[in-house]
Amino acid sequence: MFVVEQYCHFADLDGRDTEPTTRHLWLERDGEVLAYARLLAGDDGQTTLSRVVTRRDARAAGIGGRLVAEAVRLADGPVHINAQAQLAPWYERQGFTITGRFFYEDNMPHFPMRHDGSPSLVEPTGTTVTSGTATTAASPLAALVEASDLPYRIDPLTGDVGYIVAERQARPMLPSSGCPFCPGGLEAPEPYDVFSFTNRWPAIPEGRCEVVLYTSDHDATFASLGLAGARRVVDLWAARTAALGARDDVGYVLVFENRGPEVGATIAHPHGQIYAFDLTPPRARDELERADAAAFAEDAPGAGDERLVSVHRSWRAWVPWAAGWPYELLLAPRTQVPDLPSLDDDGRDDLAATLVDVTDRLDRLFDAPMPYMLWIHQRPFDGNDWPAAWLHVHITPLYRRAGTQRYMAAGELGSDVFFNPVDPTRAAADLRAAGADAP
Ligand SMILES: [Zn+2]
Ligand SMILES: [Zn+2]
Repeated sequence: MFVVEQYCHFADLDGRDTEPTTRHLWLERDGEVLAYARLLAGDDGQTTLSRVVTRRDARAAGIGGRLVAEAVRLADGPVHINAQAQLAPWYERQGFTITGRFFYEDNMPHFPMRHDGSPSLVEPTGTTVTSGTATTAASPLAALVEASDLPYRIDPLTGDVGYIVAERQARPMLPSSGCPFCPGGLEAPEPYDVFSFTNRWPAIPEGRCEVVLYTSDHDATFASLGLAGARRVVDLWAARTAALGARDDVGYVLVFENRGPEVGATIAHPHGQIYAFDLTPPRARDELERADAAAFAEDAPGAGDERLVSVHRSWRAWVPWAAGWPYELLLAPRTQVPDLPSLDDDGRDDLAATLVDVTDRLDRLFDAPMPYMLWIHQRPFDGNDWPAAWLHVHITPLYRRAGTQRYMAAGELGSDVFFNPVDPTRAAADLRAAGADAP
């Protein structure tokens, strides 16, 4: 299969098959081998699973899942695997977690993954085993693109993950009549305080995209919601995170907001969105891999007095030391909380108060509504432990001075290096001075 189906002529004859610590597993029916895998014991005591292969006519029958579950049981400890990128979601369903950055092996994108050895929470029925099997493709890259039945694509050049959402081209730029989010409108027929619903024009299918309405007041801002109104939004975020995170096919819940036409918000009514991903998206995963709780701790770099913007009991907001955007903000609780649903009553109040406070400062900064992008990073909901996950909010406002937008330009997109025209210490001072209580 590796050679014929995947153009993967790697050195299988590595001389390790007959080592006493190497174990071979296969699953047979009526004397015929349906699936095979190899467990290698490393010098460091690390067990590696490799060469997982299922006969073509036995795929999609749960065979692969049974074999992998048995291999994990035999290994009796953590098991590592370098999984082909398009099979990573399948391995996640078998209890593996992505542990590192995407890399190439034999011209195919892979993720390093790890199983902690405990029995899988998910019964390995594996009815979706569909490895890259394009026998007629002209190249490994073409095979990857064409054989994957994932809804998203992985760029073989960059490793970037992307969805093709051509149907969103038909999305109306502006509703033809009236605001669809006002009570009585298309999406919100009944009166409400806060309200969420499945996006009619989803970027990802299968009910993975939701819209969250912050208030029935069309002209409100986040700041004008006040503490009670903002708290209702926080509660709804937490409830939707819990509901979507509980789905078997959801591994990560991203809560976010695009505010203002400058960032493509086509409807002015205060609202945000939620994407429920199957995998933890690269940006969130990169942060979790660094797993540096010190980034949010009381004495974190950038959280000190110089760049601190405001404190509301258990939550703080500050300008990051290496901010890439002029008035970029990071909001986090002072002690570790993994996700929105885990926030207690006080924590929710304090998050609401901090959001009201900083969005108010942003609007006062240049005496105009500040366009911004806001997103919340939290613990993945893939069934694994994430001991380092620390709930936090990113806000990237767009203006660098009154009426002047900061654009992401070629030098930055081409290098992945940011050039920020406003010193973070200065930005924090400006934001402190912009508060309603400032002299
Ligand atoms: Zn409205
Ligand atoms: Zn983050």
